[in-house]
Amino acid sequence: MGKSKKIAFLDRDGVINKKAEEHYYITRVEDFIFNEGIFGVVSKLKNEGFEFIVITNQRGVARGLYTEETVRKIHRHMKDEFYKKGIEILDILYCPHENNTCECRKPKDGMLREAMELYKFDKTQSLLISDSVDDVYMGEQFGLGKSIFVQPNKPSEAMIHLQKSISVVV
Ligand SMILES: [Mg+2]
Ligand SMILES: [Zn+2]
Repeated sequence: MGKSKKIAFLDRDGVINKKAEEHYYITRVEDFIFNEGIFGVVSKLKNEGFEFIVITNQRGVARGLYTEETVRKIHRHMKDEFYKKGIEILDILYCPHENNTCECRKPKDGMLREAMELYKFDKTQSLLISDSVDDVYMGEQFGLGKSIFVQPNKPSEAMIHLQKSISVVV
């Protein structure tokens, strides 16, 4: 049996790409702008043996502002751009639902549980990076080894938390 996976869970809007203004959504590939520093953070984690799963709330689907097809198109673009930098994204999970109508919209942990079903990752060796304190709390409650808060659109802030290897902490 192989060693179980270490996953870095990445929030999308505000971590990987520039967050839309309040009450706005990313509805087109053209609106998807990578944040400065994200590729550096992800490359560092890749070198430490992490694999990547994006977990993102996309309530705009439930509100009829864009379709799941659009979400998939944006995600294909995101994946392609990571791939060009030598980074493979293992999976992208998203919640298309309205508040309080499902078990997957963060800060509920449905997407983490789904990822566990699919990939049987090692919780304590895994981590999460988000610009939402609720997500960080979710990661802590779920038992991830590290749950890192960064300011919106400042993914490089995660670097300081990644200086120490998480296996030292656990
Ligand atoms: Mg966010
Ligand atoms: Zn959901």
